[in-house]
Amino acid sequence: MISIVCPFYNEQELIGEFFGRLISVLNATGDEFEIICVNDGSRDNTLTGLLAAQSRYPGVRVVDLSRNFGKEAALTAGLDIARGDAVIPIDSDLQDPPELIPQMLERWREGFEVVLAQRVDRSTDSWVKSFTAGWFYRIHNRLANIQLPQNVGDFRLLDRCVVEAIRHLPERQRFMKGIFAWVGFNTAAVEYVREARSGGASKFGGWRLWNLALEGMTSFSTMPLRVWTYIGLVVAGASLGYGAFIVVRTLIHGVDMPGYASLFVAVTFLGGLQLIGLGIIGEYLGRTYTEAKQRPVYIVRKIHERRS
Ligand code: UDP
Ligand code: MG
Repeated sequence: MISIVCPFYNEQELIGEFFGRLISVLNATGDEFEIICVNDGSRDNTLTGLLAAQSRYPGVRVVDLSRNFGKEAALTAGLDIARGDAVIPIDSDLQDPPELIPQMLERWREGFEVVLAQRVDRSTDSWVKSFTAGWFYRIHNRLANIQLPQNVGDFRLLDRCVVEAIRHLPERQRFMKGIFAWVGFNTAAVEYVREARSGGASKFGGWRLWNLALEGMTSFSTMPLRVWTYIGLVVAGASLGYGAFIVVRTLIHGVDMPGYASLFVAVTFLGGLQLIGLGIIGEYLGRTYTEAKQRPVYIVRKIHERRS
């Protein structure tokens, strides 16, 4: 059996089109399938739409979360509930074409445990988004001890063994891209062209993406913590050198009245460095705190199964 996992957050306009395309692709494969729809606390009529789709199509299961927990948590909920031998997370805004699923299944049957859907271009993204995304991957892959594949979203096929591995990771703050990459396994890729959203608006604005990027950096790298030792050494070394220089200069030229500007710059610069360092420690401390609380990643209000 194949499980499709799709998170929905305020996607009422797209439900009909999404199911139309997905179901016709799945029927053509001839496999048994289930479609797990996670309603991530939508405030529009998404749930009603999903329940209507459930009564119309076989194999639809609707997981209703108690509030908006975010896409990462919604995916986690879907993976926990999926029963399939292969699980495919897919965006519900039709930016991930369901038509790619047969190709993914083919590679899976060849023996690959993970099949990535790789975008061949980012032309449907804004200039800012592809630019910042490019830099995020570059910095992340330099700092972190796992490599995130570029131009890959959450759309991918996961074999049952991969899903089990992911489910056994205990962390509460779930940066799914990193988690997917961290577990490893034999990986293949199929290529596709990402379409623009076919309706509604993106839920990831600049601030949310920035937070996701921080999450990714701090989840899989401790480099930002360690780098302060080196920065501290360099700055302290430089001020020692400068101190020595002043001593020598005083010995040669006698005492003069140096400007306050240099003092002021030195003090504020060091203050700034310390604040950045504190901020980074705070970032990790905050993460330790949320992990220590051991709260669940999501809360399910109800799982709607189809009455047959
Ligand atoms: N989504 C979600 N919870 C959220 C935000 C988004 O379940 O809090 C879902 C959304 O319904 C969509 C997918 O995650 O199916 C991707 O979101 P979106 O298209 O807004 O992101 P983008 O494609 O712009 O990165
Ligand atoms: Mg989208």
